[in-house]
Amino acid sequence: MANLGIAKNTIEIIQKYEFAFQKKFGQNFLIDTHVLDKIIQAAGLTKEDMVVEIGPGIGTMTQYLAERAGTVVAVEIDTNLIPILKETLGDYDNVTVINEDILKVDIRKLAEQYHGGRPIKVVANLPYYITTPIIMGLFESEVPIENITVMVQKEVAERMQAGPGTKDYGALSLAVQYYAEPYIVANVPPNCFIPRPNVGSAVIRLTRHQEKPVSVKDEKLMFRLIRASFNQRRKTLQNGLNNSGEVPFSKEEIASAIEKLGLPAAVRGETLTLEQFAALTDILCEGQDKP
Ligand code: SAM
Repeated sequence: MANLGIAKNTIEIIQKYEFAFQKKFGQNFLIDTHVLDKIIQAAGLTKEDMVVEIGPGIGTMTQYLAERAGTVVAVEIDTNLIPILKETLGDYDNVTVINEDILKVDIRKLAEQYHGGRPIKVVANLPYYITTPIIMGLFESEVPIENITVMVQKEVAERMQAGPGTKDYGALSLAVQYYAEPYIVANVPPNCFIPRPNVGSAVIRLTRHQEKPVSVKDEKLMFRLIRASFNQRRKTLQNGLNNSGEVPFSKEEIASAIEKLGLPAAVRGETLTLEQFAALTDILCEGQDKP
């Protein structure tokens, strides 16, 4: 089968099947072999690996994955792409295509079924409209994952990798960094896709931590505090937490916890590290434990 990373071959397939791109599915197909090589290399694939690909499209990256990984399971929502994938992936006996919405698939079960429950890798040129639910869903669920290598909107990649005090730092940075170590592999301009997206893209690899970088008494509460702190970016941490309906503590309790943490009363949430959010959570939890 011809390499679909070459624009001419992709166009040929699209014309042959009279495929109509659907904007609602975020369909922008990759047509750059260098970018494809970079993604595959970043994922560090071997024949021991099982890869789940989200949204194979016409199978461009799937072909690369099938060459390097042991097992590939590709989940595609668009039924019109299924006959195309039959042709473009016809040469491979290690690829299974599932016609389903990835948000409805039990990936843990797939890992169990195809890989004996061992950690899998996820590789995708993601549909941008559901980037965050896909990534956070993978981390928060019990799916055994080694790494996730994905194409996302450039700004989203930057937010995932950002550190405290920078303009891109926010709830997404902390959520991702709690579970994984981010590394931006490449920036990818719009002309690497058919059709061209309106935004710049980037490939980011998220390597799951073997152990969480911080321990915290109440994970859910920590993420509530984080969300509340960044909801009102320009406010102080104290006001951000006070004004949030999500945080079940009095003004005094919040002020005292910030003081106990050794931070000034006027500190802004955007300067706190993950360790500091965890410590703040534990201090507030301790207060709750008291009779
Ligand atoms: N992997 C292909 C490539 O790199 O050329 C296509 C990438 S395209 C950006 C995103 C793909 O995800 C499309 O094929 C689209 O139909 C599919 N998709 C969109 N929403 C999906 C969902 N909820 N579940 C599974 N696939 C989805």
